[in-house]
Amino acid sequence: MMPLGTMNHTATSSSERTVVVPRICDAIRSRQRFLLTSHARPDGDSIGSQLAMAYALDALGKRVRLVNADPAPDHYREFPGVDRIEIASAVDGDADAVIVMECSDLSRTGVSGFDGRFIINIDHHAGNRMYGSLNWHDESAAACGEMVFDLIQALGIPLTYEIATHIYLAILTDTGAFHHSNITPRTFDICRQTVEAGVEPAAMARRVFDSNSFGKLKLIGALLDSMELVHEGRLAVLYMDDAMLAACGCTYNDTEGVINLPLTAREIQAVVFFKATSGGEIRVSLRSKYDVDVRMVANQYGGGGHKNASGFTVSGPLSAVRGPIIDKIVHAIDEGLQTRPSA
Ligand code: AMP
Ligand code: MN
Repeated sequence: MMPLGTMNHTATSSSERTVVVPRICDAIRSRQRFLLTSHARPDGDSIGSQLAMAYALDALGKRVRLVNADPAPDHYREFPGVDRIEIASAVDGDADAVIVMECSDLSRTGVSGFDGRFIINIDHHAGNRMYGSLNWHDESAAACGEMVFDLIQALGIPLTYEIATHIYLAILTDTGAFHHSNITPRTFDICRQTVEAGVEPAAMARRVFDSNSFGKLKLIGALLDSMELVHEGRLAVLYMDDAMLAACGCTYNDTEGVINLPLTAREIQAVVFFKATSGGEIRVSLRSKYDVDVRMVANQYGGGGHKNASGFTVSGPLSAVRGPIIDKIVHAIDEGLQTRPSA
């Protein structure tokens, strides 16, 4: 085992960073009108990265438009600047550059109209397609917000309360509240700086994780009540459909974070959450502990993500897709346990 301080695998990415970050800075300084976007069904990292970047560009006197395919989950709506985000499936109008964050390919935005524009691609997901005019891809970043932090520093922009809040939001959520295995000393160094800029970690944790509606608590109850355990309790399987949401007075956004709850049981090494939509598609979310690599499962279905958090979409019916997906996760659990027998 390597000493903790040398454990990050940034040999390639740090040399890439020294080349590409100055180029991105030049591209930003020499342009005036920016479009900012991120992935469909946004999460804390996409919202945080986008808004931190927006406030940074404001500070440089740039014109900034934010466009996403879907609205932010309810509990992020009161964070600064979230009301600036336009919701649209297509974008037109002039812009000198588009900054796409958190998207391994352009279709992840769910917004059309970016093709052919000057694109700055900033992402930490494995398998990024390098679709930008400038591409900065750093898988070692625990959140895209870490990369945005570096870029804002490189641009010489002071860390305001708003920027710090969004960087912390990105890191807090994308590390699964500091549970995932991609956390490095850099993660805490950035968080330290955001706290020095006025972020209150306790208040942030309460706002992000303790702002459920009663309906959501009911939904959590229903989901956990119908949870199945597979592979001697190592895999938890959750199911949800529109009828269940309606019965609890919830919307799709209320499912956020629920997938992490089964992982609080010691034995459970991975969770799969099947979310059936009325259109017949099934959205599949995966989470895991330690070395259980659920990204490899998502990759086999055209999805992606990270070792401990990934996702994809399949066509139903659930009865047909469920078995093969579960088999693949069971395989990933067995592989992961081999590399970490004490887990
Ligand atoms: P979710 O389960 O939707 O919260 O997604 C978990 C992680 O997997 C996030 O980092 C997502 O960006 C990523 N992810 C989910 N779905 C996909 C997909 N279809 N393609 C690539 N990455 C995905
Ligand atoms: Mn992310």
